[in-house]
Amino acid sequence: MLEKNILNITERIKDKCKQIGRNYSEITLVAVSKMHPAEMITEAEKFGLKHFGENKAKELKQKAQICSKDIKWHFIGHLQTNKVKNVVPVAFLIHSVDSLKLANEINKRAKLINKKQNILIEVKTSDEETKYGITSRQDFFELIKFCSEAENLNLEGLMTMAPFTDDENLVRSSFKKLRGVFDELNNDGYNLKHLSMGMTNDFEIALEEGATILRIGTAIFGNRNYNL
Ligand SMILES: *Cc1c(COP(=O)(O)O)cnc(C)c1O
Repeated sequence: MLEKNILNITERIKDKCKQIGRNYSEITLVAVSKMHPAEMITEAEKFGLKHFGENKAKELKQKAQICSKDIKWHFIGHLQTNKVKNVVPVAFLIHSVDSLKLANEINKRAKLINKKQNILIEVKTSDEETKYGITSRQDFFELIKFCSEAENLNLEGLMTMAPFTDDENLVRSSFKKLRGVFDELNNDGYNLKHLSMGMTNDFEIALEEGATILRIGTAIFGNRNYNL
């Protein structure tokens, strides 16, 4: 089942890339393994996946201890400052930097272990109340500046979550917004490489709008059981 899902999602990504003239090798597939056991991650790794995404500091720490050291861990959830110390030692890329306070703490913790931490800034591109991510323009540019200058941070790009809706236009406009900010920053001389956007239900639209990192859970691991 896992093998079939992985083959299937990989084919869909390849097909979409071909259709829109993008290079499949430039796309990173992050398998979002949150709420699934470590054994499933190990199994998925056998079928060629290397990047896994978690959204809870404790769960990430536990899985990183159990699973193969070759795995590249992505932290994709809201990160509280007091949990940073558990995430920085294991995270390949932190997608969800949304405040100066958080960026500052990541920089400090990375410095302590002599690491340059890869990060993305999370941008709020929809109006949903529940979404984290930076909003005011001034805060945003202050954060961008700090992250690109901090000694122990490596700012690689931007991340967003589209609104939960069946309205394809709303989803697309959210991705377009992120792409617009990305282009603006690169025109201003920032050297951003990555756009993390697109999940199980909207990754094809995200690819059309320029995503370089897809975060896909359900299509790979099946439904999550929130009652556990
Ligand atoms: C859970 C999660 C995903 C994966 O969602 P699916 O719909 O299962 O593909 C992607 N990004 C973030 C930030 C998530 O929390």
